Amino acid sequence: MNPIQKFTHQLWHGLARTSRKTRIVAGGTAALALAAFGATAVAPIADPADVTSKSVSEDLQLPNLADQIAALQQNQQQFTHEERIRPGDSLGSVFTRLGITDAQAQAFVRSDRLARGILTLKNGKRIQAETDENGQLLSLRATVANKDDLKTITVTRKGDKLVASATAAQLERRVEMRSREIQNGSLYSATDANTDGGQIPDQIVGQIVEMFSTSIDFRGDLKRGDRFNVVYETFWQDGELVRTGRILAGEFINRGVAYQSVWYEDPVSHQGGYYSLDGKALKKAFLKSPVAFNRISSGFSMRVHPVFGVWKQHKGVDFAAPMGTPIKASGDGTIDFVGTQNGYGNLVVVKHWANYSTAYGHMSRFASGLRRGQKISQGDVIGYVGATGWATGPHLHYEFRIGGEAKDPMGLKNLVQQPLTTGELARFRMAAADMSHRFSLLSQAGNTVAAR
Ligand SMILES: [Zn+2]
Repeated sequence: MNPIQKFTHQLWHGLARTSRKTRIVAGGTAALALAAFGATAVAPIADPADVTSKSVSEDLQLPNLADQIAALQQNQQQFTHEERIRPGDSLGSVFTRLGITDAQAQAFVRSDRLARGILTLKNGKRIQAETDENGQLLSLRATVANKDDLKTITVTRKGDKLVASATAAQLERRVEMRSREIQNGSLYSATDANTDGGQIPDQIVGQIVEMFSTSIDFRGDLKRGDRFNVVYETFWQDGELVRTGRILAGEFINRGVAYQSVWYEDPVSHQGGYYSLDGKALKKAFLKSPVAFNRISSGFSMRVHPVFGVWKQHKGVDFAAPMGTPIKASGDGTIDFVGTQNGYGNLVVVKHWANYSTAYGHMSRFASGLRRGQKISQGDVIGYVGATGWATGPHLHYEFRIGGEAKDPMGLKNLVQQPLTTGELARFRMAAADMSHRFSLLSQAGNTVAAR
């Protein structure tokens, strides 16, 4: 590489080259820090029984300063480059732009199990390299996404060898707040508006809908002047948005009524869910069981059908209970079906938000006046246990459906929330108070609304 080429490369952080002096100082500091740590590990104040601290001190390899200086004298100049992957790029073309003229490095990246991840970099993604003045690779770094997993792959030169390592990408978490007013009855036109420094990502819009659609029909209920506030997480690397996280809190004012919801997560299990802002109405998304039952007589599994005597998959859960026991809607929703349906006997289907629905079979009778299209709340009685249809005794056949397909309701941990314990409630109230404060900052003055 000629000297002009050297300086035409895009420079990372505006640093044209790292001087020999800087490198020596940096190396010396690292050595001192490690030496200090090593000394602590064997200091007599350490518990003598703590044998692990001893082995730590033995495993420490202090960098040899003399070696480093010698290496630096050979490679006086070190160049840092950053490039982005372009359509049609090959490893060769990226290396050329990065100023790497190092056949060994190319072969290494193509063959090494970890380094090969660099070949999966998508268009627009960054790759950074350090080379010496001859274009030999000193180090290479890129962050690669594998599904939701982000890792930073580093290739480093160790003498005449190259070594690859991968670490979890260091992402910066930001909490963003947005406030929007519905202008023309459409949620999406409001979220596209770029009024306060950024669009609201589609994933967040989807979460807003999911969060409030038990209370608000986003296709029909929205009115000009409705508004919402949302607090959500985003994850960044090198000033670039990598992914959006979840909504931490949301408030939607629909026709003068405020609906509020706060995310709460168990600090140990990391299981979480949304709760109302006052912390009192900690409504679960779905009841674990829609009936006071004696026992689960059949789970979601293969079984011999009790009426037909053949092996069939049982696509629901049977709750054995006395004839006439009230059956409750397991979540908020709309009645989608009331009537008789072959094997199910007297059946009620409730449509919930998103594509969730629940079905309740073998009822002896329906709740009086129950009709299709009726809005119901979690816990409302919709019918009574019976043995209509193909049933050998009184029980409720309960199905949880996603997109019309029956799923095992016992396996849906994220939808069936556990109530908060007293300790959790205290923690939750602190989080909720903070979110409530943020909402009050976001809300426009003079708009009084009834909390609900
Ligand atoms: Zn059943």
